[in-house]
Amino acid sequence: MKVAISRVTLEQIMALCVADRDEVCGLLLGAPGRIDAILPAANIASDPARHFELDPAVLIAAHRAARAGGPAVIGHYHSHPSGVAMPSATDAACAAPDGGFWLIVADGEARLWIAGAKDGGVVRFVEAMLDIR
Ligand SMILES: [Zn+2]
Repeated sequence: MKVAISRVTLEQIMALCVADRDEVCGLLLGAPGRIDAILPAANIASDPARHFELDPAVLIAAHRAARAGGPAVIGHYHSHPSGVAMPSATDAACAAPDGGFWLIVADGEARLWIAGAKDGGVVRFVEAMLDIR
């Protein structure tokens, strides 16, 4: 699967991620096959250097805006400040098998994953190709 993203949006995500030593997170807005914009959210995890938890107020507001005709929430992004741009064991254990996009940033690279079906209690992620425009 190929998912389009503008260079400007991707650079916006990368800039937010390098600016923080903790995990950075936010929502991806757009449509199936297309990331149009991001909505940064505070990481409210108790251990933000190693985990992320999106500020639920941002999530609720984004879903409410989507219902009112705004862009759909198609997934989220987060960074791994000292890891690789692949879903961690924690990500796989916490993910919902909902087909949502997981954009993960680490070490200057961004990779996109789709949360697939659950297998053995954990979500299996499938990598998607970012079509940078
Ligand atoms: Zn992660």
